[in-house]
Amino acid sequence: MGSMMTVAVLALQGAFAEHGAMLDRLGAEHFEIRQKKDLDRHFDRLILPGGESTVMGKLLKDCEMLEPIRQRILEGMPVFGTCAGLILLAEQVEDGDAHLGTMQIRAKRNAYGRQLGSFYTEAEFQGIGTVPMTFIRAPYIDRVWGEAEVLAEVDGKIVAARQGNQLVTAFHPELADSLEVHQYFLNM
Ligand code: GLN
Repeated sequence: MGSMMTVAVLALQGAFAEHGAMLDRLGAEHFEIRQKKDLDRHFDRLILPGGESTVMGKLLKDCEMLEPIRQRILEGMPVFGTCAGLILLAEQVEDGDAHLGTMQIRAKRNAYGRQLGSFYTEAEFQGIGTVPMTFIRAPYIDRVWGEAEVLAEVDGKIVAARQGNQLVTAFHPELADSLEVHQYFLNM
């Protein structure tokens, strides 16, 4: 990939460092967004990590980053939300509030209940093949509409989706050895 591409990783909270490590392995330039002025730096893509969507959503709002980021996404900048990042992008959130709300999906938070809070599986990902999937207190998507399309399902539940420039996974590809989902994002 060209050295012209720079990926920003939202680093307010959660599993942002792991995304940076994946991007290093893929040879992609990246930096962390911690405050509003970081948005002035040049970046072509954005990753919203896993963590706690309520906390990240509140910090985004308090730091006046919610609207500028929403604008960039609506203008077509590729964005990749994992787990809590998926919730941040969802237009509808069950058992929680919408935040960026740019993607035509409904996220169901903490959807797997207590016993199945965390688990590992492998499943088919459209356009990639079989990928490892680590779920940690994960949401799933119970509905997509409009331009959003399903990319992966586990046990009949949607765990990855795409809507043009927006990619979401309920699982954590940054915790797996496989670089394929991040590579898919960089190719978008
Ligand atoms: N349960 C978290 C939330 O609602 C998501 C968990 C995660 O990102 N690993 O934001």
